[in-house]
Amino acid sequence: MSHIYGCSLEKGGETVRRLCPVHHVLFVLALVLLALIACPKMATAQLTAPEKFLGFKPGADYKLASYVQAAAYFDHLASQTGRMRVFDMGPTPMGKRMRYAVISAEENIKDLDRYKEIAAKLSLARGVRPAEAERLAADGKAIVWIDGGLHATECAPAQHLIQLAYDLVAGEDETTRRIRGNVIALLVFPNPDGMDLVAEWYIKNVGTKYETSSLPWLYNKYIGHDNNRDSYNASQLETQNISRAQNHEWFPEVVYNHHQTAPFPTRIWIPPYGEPANPNKPALVIRWENLIGAAMGKAFDEADKPGAISRASFDAWYPGFMTQVVTTHNIPSILTETALYRYATPREYKLADFPEAYRDLTKSAFYPNPWKGGWWRLGDAVDYCLTASKAVLDVSARYRRDLLLSKYKIASGIIAKYRSEPPFGWIVPREQADSGATIRMLEKLMLLGVEVYATREPVSHEGRQYPADTYFIPVSQPFGMYVKTMLETQNYPDLRKYPALWQGIPSPVRVDTAPLRPYDVAGWTMPIQMGVDCQELKQPAGFQTEQLSAVQSSQGIVSGTEGSSWIFSAADSNCFIAANRILAAGGKMSRAVETFRAGGMIVPAGDFIAGGLTPDRMAGIARGTHVSMMRANVPTKTREVKAPRIGHYKPWTASMDEGWIRWLLEQYEFPYRSLHDADFREGKLNAKADIIILADISARSILNGNQEGSMPPEYVGGMTEAGVRNLREFVAAGGTLICNSSSCELAIQIFSLPVENARPAAVKKGFYVAGSLVRMNYDISQPVAYGMRENGAAFISGGMLFEIGPSASGVRVVARYPDEPLLLSGYMEHDELVRGKPTVLDVSYEKGRIILPGFNFHNRGQAHATFKLLFNALLY
Ligand SMILES: [Zn+2]
Repeated sequence: MSHIYGCSLEKGGETVRRLCPVHHVLFVLALVLLALIACPKMATAQLTAPEKFLGFKPGADYKLASYVQAAAYFDHLASQTGRMRVFDMGPTPMGKRMRYAVISAEENIKDLDRYKEIAAKLSLARGVRPAEAERLAADGKAIVWIDGGLHATECAPAQHLIQLAYDLVAGEDETTRRIRGNVIALLVFPNPDGMDLVAEWYIKNVGTKYETSSLPWLYNKYIGHDNNRDSYNASQLETQNISRAQNHEWFPEVVYNHHQTAPFPTRIWIPPYGEPANPNKPALVIRWENLIGAAMGKAFDEADKPGAISRASFDAWYPGFMTQVVTTHNIPSILTETALYRYATPREYKLADFPEAYRDLTKSAFYPNPWKGGWWRLGDAVDYCLTASKAVLDVSARYRRDLLLSKYKIASGIIAKYRSEPPFGWIVPREQADSGATIRMLEKLMLLGVEVYATREPVSHEGRQYPADTYFIPVSQPFGMYVKTMLETQNYPDLRKYPALWQGIPSPVRVDTAPLRPYDVAGWTMPIQMGVDCQELKQPAGFQTEQLSAVQSSQGIVSGTEGSSWIFSAADSNCFIAANRILAAGGKMSRAVETFRAGGMIVPAGDFIAGGLTPDRMAGIARGTHVSMMRANVPTKTREVKAPRIGHYKPWTASMDEGWIRWLLEQYEFPYRSLHDADFREGKLNAKADIIILADISARSILNGNQEGSMPPEYVGGMTEAGVRNLREFVAAGGTLICNSSSCELAIQIFSLPVENARPAAVKKGFYVAGSLVRMNYDISQPVAYGMRENGAAFISGGMLFEIGPSASGVRVVARYPDEPLLLSGYMEHDELVRGKPTVLDVSYEKGRIILPGFNFHNRGQAHATFKLLFNALLY
């Protein structure tokens, strides 16, 4: 560098160049001119700040930007700069489009396809040699996914994205320039519907006595808060869009999922995570999370923002969470939980409000700067989110190359290791009792980036023969740890045995009391939960395979040409879609009441028998639903099935389970109507429905609903005694009531059933189960269990089990725990206390019927193996 512009000074070992005043002015003018000529779009003065566009600064008291406003701001800002583009991820259930921002230096934005390709190559590692990986990592950019608003009532994360976009585009400080140069930031609103519903509700109520009241409905179409339990199941459109963007398009180096439930009085929870870690989480991923977490903590203390805590509360076990599903895709994932009061309403906290343990403000390794109390506003939470996001972006910029290379190293390591180490993979036969669930399972895995193959030759393994074209899912693949996580059984550790892991003191104290609870679910093994037959491959795959780009059902064929009936299996969950389509088309449906022979086949009780439509129409329904049918004459007694009028109870307490069941009914094409508290209070229920469903909601909540004064009057109060009386009359007059898990309690009470919930007594003696898969026996001669596996499984979390009174009549046991060790996957204590106990009952009451599944039959739309309990009850 020439010295003509000025003189050099030595300062602290560095050479600092100073310009003399005249040269300085000329130099600056020249730079400005150059900047204006070269890139007029980059003159930051032209960029519209959020407060100019919205009329308030994101995080302002009593203000919330809606998704519509935020997305419009993104479009507006992108039109002013070459550093930002807005893309579309797909539709939402309420008809919006999921739009997200991509921000980086202008030259990077021009080359996005190349950077996506580099990220994909390094993430998948297929065919990339180490030397090429080094070159790619040197050339690539760190793709960092930051989302805000998955839980829409946690308002700060979504609001902060608006400010973050502006700061990243407009900032000219060294850090921001480094971020733009090295990082491609994806700013994502993962729940647009919810963001609008919450903004609308809050803005309407600001200044009234309902300002901080809860929403009387879910903050998205179906599942509310459970949208962060949907990551591997990908049941919802938003989850599907996110999965596609992460696993098929962007392959991010870091994923950051913002939330707002800090353990009070801390102001933000940041990684490292609590115990236990999922055993399939790559060590390097855990190290990155710890490193990024430490950098975030440092950023908070540099910015004089006290109250950042790590480790406590949030563990790294369950892949239903967005943060955890990505870790077995070899992505370091950051969760934060910023403190929240309510929406955009501020609140002051005094030390006296703190739990006692926090009042003396003791420092610790993972809470070095305790918060002392004071005002907390949405603006503070937005500021904390900004500090956290910028810290993550800055670390990603500084370690760009290493982050890119890490993903390659992990993926190529897994591919190599599981070629010669078990588990080698899972064989999934095409011939399955539940073909519909099998296809769904494979599609879900593929959406999450799993490579699914078909064997090109017959395979024989441990006494079982599989024809050519059998599905095979190897662990030796880039996301092999995800394959393992989803297909193997979970063995959740008894944390009382490992106090050194989590207590952080020299002589760990033994804990002999109750089990230490996981943050959420302990076991989820997909084949068990979905009722899909799989076999683990215990030796290296010595057979030829071909990767599939999609899975196609081989079902949907009509066999036989003679006979007036079309027979199809009740074991295939798609049979309910077929049955509903036949009923909707005006066809006749019935179910076999006993096993019989037809067309050379044995047809079990419960199978569907259809007629009354043309052969072409039937063939079309078989093809469309992938349900194979057999045309034959039926030589036996059958029970006619009519399209039921379904009423589904919808309270004003925003029940997630109500939403899940609504979603389930729609997926399997059961028409229904929602019934509100007022419908129950008004009565004449038999005129409104033949079947009423009560979701997994407590008896007290159903009866009382929202408390008076907590909400606008139209959403206050529950079904009340009047509603309960009408429900009793409904069943007495021939209606069917279907409960789910905790709502069974209400049925037991109001119908004075000769049945008791035996769970509390068992829990008192030490029985404990944490969201796990357990053995369950089904009486498949009972209509409610038609088509199920006799020795099956169920997902258990809470719920009830039954003790049937000695003089009880009209009570039929549909399912019970077998008399053997129960745990299949997850965590359970003292299961001997519940073995043999009934869990699902079918009870006659006067002219009607009450179905009591003591466990939640769908488990957040995941437990395909037990969906049939509901569907059979609907088509009794
Ligand atoms: Zn949350």
